[in-house]
Amino acid sequence: EKPSVTMLGLGAMGTALARTWLAAGHPLTVWNRTPARAAALVPEGARVADTAAQAVAASTLVVVCLLDDTAVDEVLADTDLVGRDLVNLTTSTPAQARARATWARSRGARYLAGGIMAVPPMIGVPEAGGYVFYSGSRALFERHRETLRVPVGTTYVGEDAGFAALHDVALLSAMYGMFAGAAHAFALIRREDIDPAALAPLLADWLVAMIPAIHQTADQLRSGDYTRGVVSTLAMQVAGTPTFLSTAEQQGVSPELLSPYFDLMRRRLAEGGGEEDLTGVIDLLVR
Ligand code: NDP
Repeated sequence: EKPSVTMLGLGAMGTALARTWLAAGHPLTVWNRTPARAAALVPEGARVADTAAQAVAASTLVVVCLLDDTAVDEVLADTDLVGRDLVNLTTSTPAQARARATWARSRGARYLAGGIMAVPPMIGVPEAGGYVFYSGSRALFERHRETLRVPVGTTYVGEDAGFAALHDVALLSAMYGMFAGAAHAFALIRREDIDPAALAPLLADWLVAMIPAIHQTADQLRSGDYTRGVVSTLAMQVAGTPTFLSTAEQQGVSPELLSPYFDLMRRRLAEGGGEEDLTGVIDLLVR
């Protein structure tokens, strides 16, 4: 028989995860604050626990997917975690994850933190490419690897319990930067007779074409040589910034998303980084 799983938290994400374990034939015990969401899984084979404590007692592997760290506190408060393998997929900060790991160990549990890089429709759909970052106990990750990969891919990023959250936030932060750039691009054409649907594929293809620059950035950071492989120097790029700011002004578009980045580029140039790539900006951000 497949290992049994306890699932605490049946929101959009928890329910999606739970369904995949049920479909794969894992005995699953569920608990949710609002009981109707647990009852909804009974036809698929879930066993419903009356309390979080009973759910925790039902399986060695206890997966938690609640709204936030405060909810985790509330739900696990009256549970006996001794000997449990606690896998917490609740989004948190690195500091919260580290504190939770210490807390879990003090309660007698082994601990693995997760950061979900997927939305619920991607769960149980391997070709959608979603996965979960895991960090904390490597032994725990290895022990439950087969079970954890049932809903979605797994990527282990280290013993530091905060690293899953850190990787999660790093990737999403980069995503927001990309969305910010796309927002500015769409704003530039907003008042013109240009179909946003005509710009979209051009924009998407351009962003994809620029993506390899990320590997060059990493290579420069590792070597410490920010001129390595440089194609467009910082000096050249700073010289181009008035074109971007003037175009924004001409189109009646606020430069507020672009300006902070340009300001950093200028500061690095003023410090003597003219022959470098854009990588020196990173050093200006790290306080
Ligand atoms: P939902 O809002 O759909 O569900 C929240 C869950 O938390 C519900 O089970 C809710 O119970 C429970 N909950 C909230 N507060 C408490 C509390 N004080 N005590 C007990 N239970 C509580 O959120 P999701 O399922 O979408 O998200 C869950 C986690 O997954 C979050 O940390 C989220 O950041 C993360 N995540 C979600 C993604 C998404 O696209 N949905 C993507 C990546 C990560 P009740 O049913 O009673 O309200």
